[in-house]
This record gives sequence, C-alpha cells and structure tokens, in this order.
Amino acid sequence: MDRFDVIVIGAGPAGASAAFVAAQTGLRVALINRRTFPRDKLCGGLVTGRARRHYADIFGHEMPFHPEDRKTTVDFRYRGQPVGIIEDAPALCATMRWDMDAMLCRHALAAGAQDFTGQAVAEIDRDSGTVKLKGGAMLGYGVLIGADGVNSQVARELFGQPFDRARIGFGLEIEADGAHVDPAAPIRIDLGAAQWGYGWVFPKRCSTTVGVGGVLARNPEMKRAMSAYCEMLGIDAAEASFKGQFLPFGDFRNVPGQGAVLLAGDAAGLVDPITGEGIGYAMQSGQLAAKAALAALSAGQPETALPHYCRALRPMHRALRMARLIRPVIFLPALEPGFARAFQRSSTLRRDYLRLMAGEAEYEQILARLVLRLPRFGLMALRARL
Ligand SMILES: Cc1cc2nc3c(=O)[nH]c(=O)nc-3n(C[C@H](O)[C@H](O)[C@H](O)COP(=O)(O)OP(=O)(O)OC[C@H]3O[C@@H](n4cnc5c(N)ncnc54)[C@H](O)[C@@H]3O)c2cc1C
Repeated sequence: MDRFDVIVIGAGPAGASAAFVAAQTGLRVALINRRTFPRDKLCGGLVTGRARRHYADIFGHEMPFHPEDRKTTVDFRYRGQPVGIIEDAPALCATMRWDMDAMLCRHALAAGAQDFTGQAVAEIDRDSGTVKLKGGAMLGYGVLIGADGVNSQVARELFGQPFDRARIGFGLEIEADGAHVDPAAPIRIDLGAAQWGYGWVFPKRCSTTVGVGGVLARNPEMKRAMSAYCEMLGIDAAEASFKGQFLPFGDFRNVPGQGAVLLAGDAAGLVDPITGEGIGYAMQSGQLAAKAALAALSAGQPETALPHYCRALRPMHRALRMARLIRPVIFLPALEPGFARAFQRSSTLRRDYLRLMAGEAEYEQILARLVLRLPRFGLMALRARL
C-alpha cells in the first residue's frame, strides 16, 4: 500500500488548491480525479475579484486572462425589462472551465502532488484510513480532503447524502455559438428568469454561456424557465440541449467533515446563496483545508484536522450566513419588484450589488444599508403591483 500524508479526492478549484498548498509545504500528497484533464464542468465560468485574489494568494501569481475576457459592463434586467446598464462595474473575468481547471490541476502536480487523475474511487475506509481505487490500488492517508464537488462521494460516506434536496439549487446552461458569439457584449443578469435565482448571459470569445438557476424546490419547472429565457433572448435551443447540475446555493455544512476527513468547495456547500459564486470559495476552502491538515499532521494528531479547519472557515461561514439572511430581500416574490425598482433608481444600491457580485465587497459591509431600505422596497413593490 502506498501511504500519503494527504489524499485529495477531486481536482477542481477546491482540490487543486488543496493539493497545491499541501504539496508546497512538503507533505506527500495524492490527487485523485475521476476524469482526466481537460474536462468539462457545467459553470458560468465568471471569475470574481475574490476568486482572483485567492488564486494569487495560493499560486503566487496573477490569474492569466485574455484582455477580452475582462468584463466591466453589466446589463441588469427584471422580467426582461432593462433596470440599468452599468459601464464601469468592477471587473469580472470570463473563463472556460475546460481550460481553467486543467491549469489548476497542472499547478498542483507541478508542486509535487502525485497524479491519480483518470482514476475513480471504489471505497473509502475511515477505520483503516485508506482509499481503494477502482483499478485496485490501495492508498493510505493521514488526512483525507473531499473536494469532489456537489455530488461528493466523500460527503455521502460521512453523512449518508451529499446534500439536502429541499435546500439545494439547480442550474441549466447552454453554450450558444454562431451568431450569438459577441465577446464585446455586456454580461446580462435577468432577475425573475427563475424563482429564487436568476438568468444569465456571459459572452466569451468562443461562445456565449446562457443559463438559469435558483433554489430547486422553488423551480419545479426549471426547463420551462430556461426555454422561456432562451426564447426571450432569441436563441433557438431544444430542451434536450440543456445541461443541468445541482448547485449548493446557500446550503453549506456547518461542520464540513469528521476527524481527519475534511470537505472543501461544493462538497462542503460553499457557494454564495445570492450570486451563485463558488470558484473563489472553493479555492479558499481548499487552501484552508490543506493548512488544517498540515497543522494536525505536524502535531501528530490527524484527527484534529477538523477543529483546525472549522476555526479557519468561520469568517466564510459568517459571510454566507449573512448572504442567506439578505437573500429574501432580493428574491422574495413580494419584494422582488421593489428591489428591481430601487435598483433602477439608486446608484448606491447598484454599486453595492455589483461590488458584491464581483467579489469586491462583503455582505456585512452592505447589510445595514439594505435593512434601512427594506420599508422602501416594500412600498415600491406595492406601487409596482398597483
Ligand atoms: C450552472 C452553474 C453555473 C455556475 N456559474 C458559476 C460562475 O459563473 N462563477 C462561479 O464562481 N461559480 C459558478 N458556479 C459554481 C462553481 O461551478 C462551483 O462552486 C465550483 O466548481 C466548485 O469547485 P469544486 O472544486 O468544489 O468542485 P468541482 O469544480 O465540481 O470539482 C470537483 C472535481 O471532483 C471530481 N470528482 C467528482 N467525484 C469524484 C470521485 N468520486 N472521485 C474522484 N473525482 C471525483 C470531478 O471530476 C471534478 O473534477 C456555477 C455552478 C453551476 C452548477
């Protein structure tokens, strides 16, 4: 049996970051991913300022982007109607996960993580601290980091299910090509395209990513919402071409692991419940999980990895909790029209929202201003209905 200090399952943004940080500190690391890279991952691929800061902090250089991928114009709509075009928004960068994740995985392997990509996990045995691969190889670990996405096998092993179906989000996307490719077009956000969620158009150099997403339980007809959205945008797309994936839209785990087994990224539910941003949280949680593993292994007590990790995650959990608190102000059907009107009229609200969306502000910075505005949203919502 081959023994490692840390085994990371999943080599997306969370797993690649965890493996990179752990390998760089001199730990013996195995990086397992079911598929080989490059591989697709359903995602809008927008990289926020938060994600770019975490990337630079982890990998020691700025994330590379083509100048055309920097987006600073955002077209906001409510039920298809314009509520504001903002031309000097904080930059959001458009990526294709096919390329970005392959780069992240390369960084982790170059730092010394041993390559187990293209290998599926057959069995995890926490008593013996081993992972058996489908090919038959047996690997031992001190700390196991489950960064295997929203359908996490590691979370299922720990908690019986990867997520709570009543709270999970879901997104549908298509890549529109041909006449719909216009890298100079603004990012478009459509409130009301889905319940407790939104629609999006992210123009890229090779295609335009179009999607709708929201809380699954509030959107039993998500495919219909996506069809209506495509029709509104003048895109001729058959339902069969929609690709869908669960998204832990505000459903994070308060205790993301057990003993020497930690969950990071989507496996821990770390996605913003308003914007759906997950890449930055995945990278940061991967980094924190690796640091927790190092602290626990250095003390000769791998099973103390979880308390180290929980402490490090507190600020992120606090921010996501706050976002969950604010979410009804934006998505509650009774308040939604009021929010849209206020957004149209108030440059402060527009600036706050864009800074949040671009990962340039934290929720606690805007909570007080939003709470003060609540009665006005209610009033505007009432007026909008009359
Ligand atoms: C429709 C949609 C749009 C989104 N748009 C955005 C956006 O624009 N910006 C943003 O920031 N976030 C977005 N997100 C969220 C973002 O995609 C995720 O939060 C992010 O990918 C989480 O990274 P991760 O590393 O935790 O998981 P993943 O990126 O899912 O990576 C998990 C990895 O684990 C591997 N794996 C899975 N199971 C196993 C197994 N059993 N054994 C071995 N390997 C395994 C997978 O192959 C994969 O490589 C979107 C999500 C959806 C669904």
